[in-house]
Amino acid sequence: MTFVLQMRGNSFPPNYLKMKALVYHGAGKKAWEEKPKPVIAEPTDAIVKILKTTICGTDLHILKGDVPAVTEGRIIGHEGVGIIEETGSAVATFKKGDHVLISCITSCGKCANCKKAMYSHCENGGWILGNLIDGTQAEYVRIPHADNSLYPIPAGSDEEALVMLSDILPTGFECGVLNGKVSPGDTVAIVGAGPIGMAVLLTAQFYTPSEIIVIDQDPNRLAIAKTFGATQTINSARENAVERVMALTNGKGVDTAIEAVGLPATFEICEAIVADGGRIANIGVHGKSVPLHMETLWSKNITITTRLVDTVSTPMLFKIVQSKKIDAKKLVTHHYKLDNILEAYDTFEHAGKEKALKVMLTA
Ligand SMILES: [Zn+2]
Ligand SMILES: [Zn+2]
Repeated sequence: MTFVLQMRGNSFPPNYLKMKALVYHGAGKKAWEEKPKPVIAEPTDAIVKILKTTICGTDLHILKGDVPAVTEGRIIGHEGVGIIEETGSAVATFKKGDHVLISCITSCGKCANCKKAMYSHCENGGWILGNLIDGTQAEYVRIPHADNSLYPIPAGSDEEALVMLSDILPTGFECGVLNGKVSPGDTVAIVGAGPIGMAVLLTAQFYTPSEIIVIDQDPNRLAIAKTFGATQTINSARENAVERVMALTNGKGVDTAIEAVGLPATFEICEAIVADGGRIANIGVHGKSVPLHMETLWSKNITITTRLVDTVSTPMLFKIVQSKKIDAKKLVTHHYKLDNILEAYDTFEHAGKEKALKVMLTA
């Protein structure tokens, strides 16, 4: 097995089966090319044949070279559903032929952080798929700690809707709604109406806030946000978002401000609109430091939270999606064959022009 780990580039060991995969080749370079089909490396592994996968904003960061942990030759992608192809000898929950949801977070269930349900920082996993190990934008993927990192899919499920549970729904819910302590009657602002902001918008409504204000620069996304339950929308390219939020809240600001972009300017909007006693819940992936305005915030009794999704809410969200209490499929705007993934990337990279939220890739 050491041999597998030492393989580089396109060198194929003898007797290995091949598959197609989306491979990162350094900043700005990617290819849909042949790679060795993954094999069981540990008894707790499963090999999953991908049925459906999608592209995350994080994948675009990786392709730009913003995530230095991702090395050349890595297969990216951390979302999807598939069929178990093979299991290691220690996998107890799954067998060949089972349909499974792949969690973006891999967790052993045994380490100190897993025992605290902080799976995002599992000492033997965490966010490794499509990051530190090969990911899901491929015909097959190896999933470590399969018992704890996969979820069984009942027959007859809408698997396209379930792909939204790999990452964006638990991320929006845990990092935004739960950390932001959205409560009945509260006022909420969501800064950023991409797929994650939309996931916040859908799951914040579990708690019946009185106002959900969505802020973005894309009129199409704001129009979609209205249909998803936003009570107000603000186009921050055309108007002063802070002034508008203060006007809409009688000068008080919002109880929860959720940052779903990852830029200094959008975090500063959250700092300026949070009410006394309120919460700023960060979700965005930040590549730069952001100004922290302690000169105004020190006395306001606010809480600022950060989090990488733990996926502890996935079983609950799974039931909600299955029952259609939220229609997760409406986050999917485009469909492609997995073989046409480069075309799908082109659409997702121009999400504004293409009016794209999530792009669905089907094998
Ligand atoms: Zn993601
Ligand atoms: Zn662990």
